[in-house]
Amino acid sequence: MLILFLLCFIMLVVALILAVYLLLCRGAWPKKSGFSIDFSEVRELADAPARELPVSINRLIIATGKLPGWVVVAGDFGKRRSVIEFPSFQVVYETGSIIIEVPFNERLFNKFPYGEEFYVRNYGLMQQAMENADLIIPTHEHWDHLGGIAQSDDCAGILRKTILTKEQIGGPTIADAEFPESSFDNLKPIEYDRYYSAAPGVVLIKAPGHSIGHQFVFVRLRNGNEFLFTGDVVWTNDNFSRKRSRPWLVSKKRMENRTQISHQMKYLYEEFHANVNQTINLVSTHDPRQHEEYIFRGLMKSGFQV
Ligand SMILES: [Zn+2]
Repeated sequence: MLILFLLCFIMLVVALILAVYLLLCRGAWPKKSGFSIDFSEVRELADAPARELPVSINRLIIATGKLPGWVVVAGDFGKRRSVIEFPSFQVVYETGSIIIEVPFNERLFNKFPYGEEFYVRNYGLMQQAMENADLIIPTHEHWDHLGGIAQSDDCAGILRKTILTKEQIGGPTIADAEFPESSFDNLKPIEYDRYYSAAPGVVLIKAPGHSIGHQFVFVRLRNGNEFLFTGDVVWTNDNFSRKRSRPWLVSKKRMENRTQISHQMKYLYEEFHANVNQTINLVSTHDPRQHEEYIFRGLMKSGFQV
């Protein structure tokens, strides 16, 4: 009887350890990536006379948060908290601008369980910058990337100059941004296969996984500096240094396709992080250390021009 009890107990412990490992500790990292970007084609699509290319990129922090380490990198229980930010980026042209990423307002931010600070003044500046902008481009349809459009006093006006894809509008997560009813009734979303030329120097690159409408945004400045906004493939560079994705449980909650994300991560790691000859600057939307480094090196500016 005692032996049977002990056997059951051991089996229960083993099952528990296995469940914790599979749900929280195992991070996807394929041997070979099936994802790739043809940058010669992307550069061709971005090409325009120098005077028409954007001249600079600005970053504005709308809010900050702190995620538990294991939420960012599977099994990372040692790291207490991972600092993240919710920024908006302004691509500045000689005459005009494009806004990439439009985080949520304070009411929606307060629903985010790991939030720290919300910068009301910066949120107002972002709204003003959107009014002045020629185009608005979210990397994907999550509330922290387009919620500020839905919550804008001029939502209909802003939507008219927002590039949204068919997948984004039809996706299961856009509802969290709480767009007013019938917002998309007269909106014609874009449809594209791999790449889409959005403006001089700006090309969209299809990269579903984190959400079905997730995409990268390539930007080439007049001075030759190139950027690849990679949205939420990773939240911080820790995934690359640890070579591990988010845990299964976190992916499940966000309805992610882990296979697609892991192949994108592997590709970005090999082409950029482990490649000393690469020249394109990756921009992960939520990684404050990376943005600060770019600002320190003069690649980006802090604050918006309005
Ligand atoms: Zn996000």
